[in-house]
Amino acid sequence: MPVTVRFAPSPTGNIHIGNVRTALFNWLYALKHDGQFILRFDDTDTARSKQEYADQIAADLDWLGVKPHRVEYQSKRGIAHDAAVEKLKQSGRLYPCYETAEELDRRRKIRLTRKLPPVYGREALKLTAEEKAAYEAEGRKPHWRFLLPNYAETPFETKRTEVHWDDVVRGRQTVDLASMSDPVLIREDGTYLYTLPSVVDDIDMGVTHVIRGDDHVTNTGAQIALFEALGADAPAFGHHNLLTTTTGEGLSKRSGALSISALREAGYEPMAVASLAVLIGTSEAVAAASSLEAMAATFEPSSSSKSAAKFDPAELDVLNRQIVHGLPYEAVAVRLADAGIDTNDPRTAAFWLVVRGNVEKVADAAAWWAIVTQGPADEAALEGDDLDYARTAFSLLPEGDVDASTWSTWTGAVKEATGRKGRALFMPLRVALTGKTSGPEIADLLPLLGREGILARQP
Ligand code: GLU
Repeated sequence: MPVTVRFAPSPTGNIHIGNVRTALFNWLYALKHDGQFILRFDDTDTARSKQEYADQIAADLDWLGVKPHRVEYQSKRGIAHDAAVEKLKQSGRLYPCYETAEELDRRRKIRLTRKLPPVYGREALKLTAEEKAAYEAEGRKPHWRFLLPNYAETPFETKRTEVHWDDVVRGRQTVDLASMSDPVLIREDGTYLYTLPSVVDDIDMGVTHVIRGDDHVTNTGAQIALFEALGADAPAFGHHNLLTTTTGEGLSKRSGALSISALREAGYEPMAVASLAVLIGTSEAVAAASSLEAMAATFEPSSSSKSAAKFDPAELDVLNRQIVHGLPYEAVAVRLADAGIDTNDPRTAAFWLVVRGNVEKVADAAAWWAIVTQGPADEAALEGDDLDYARTAFSLLPEGDVDASTWSTWTGAVKEATGRKGRALFMPLRVALTGKTSGPEIADLLPLLGREGILARQP
């Protein structure tokens, strides 16, 4: 069977770098195994799900280079979910319960004082038809639990029932179904919790690998039992570690600044975000990858550590710089134009290669474009001896066209005439030409300024 994975966000907010880790683990797994990637919106919570969030998630993934082979919405699959419910009811695996939250809480406390595990005791299975009718007459509506296969003779005497899976990230995992409560699949108001639609859709969509955050490890045992109760083989599972903020808090859809849209708007490169989202918290060195395809070739889900990884925005800056410094002009031309740079100017391509090593983000090149085309920045100025020196030096600019060799000819003449060398020689010229004390090689800037531009900067 071809590998089929799914990324299943609830469209209730913008996705952040932690969600992208899940999306990319799935995407890279699919790429590596020549498989299919489904973007599945888990939008059964109709009150909180919004199409605009779904659209934004799709746009964020596209920006990162994730191109789903299929897009599905759980909200459109009610008929399949209802059919699965019927099947479970018929096989006696789904049963109605009438307890209120307070009643459940009271029972849990009693079990704890008796040193019993605080799992649901299946009291609802003992209700007679009359008792159920009486509850219904009172106006109570049932919620429905899935009867876990963790007993031999009677559901009231559970026995250790191990479920195993070979997690593609964490290795062999074992859970005991007797240690957990029968999960509620349907709420009192008839709406589904996440478990049933997710399993039904995974079956119908042919999902072979469920790769997601390790906050879902505890759901997996019951889900495997549900796959089997619905007559399907459970897929393989992989649970990666989660990302937290530098102070250890979990990321949430409310961590606005770390949303993918915010990172994109702040000018980060998609491959910087993708490289960090995947490599952080693994045994691989965090380095900027050139493409998702290149990343897929070496992607090894089992290299993730088991503990949470801290996402540090400073690491993103380092990766971003590495990437920007190597970007060819063709990759940035559109964005340079967006940043106000005249890409019809014949100097623009050369300009980018000269300044790219001195910017953090592509759009920062606009400040250098202003220096080249309009005049020096006002960050540094010359005074005293340096001012006199610079005036002399400018008068020694070699005649003729300015090219790659001009700087060396010019500084040779300046050295001979003034006796200055090193920093004392070049810094006043840098300041006069750019209004800054650091920046691209002056030798490379001179041809962009041209003779006129240089002389216009004579102090
Ligand atoms: N919608 C679920 C979530 O966002 C999907 C979990 C899963 O991948 O099974 O947590």
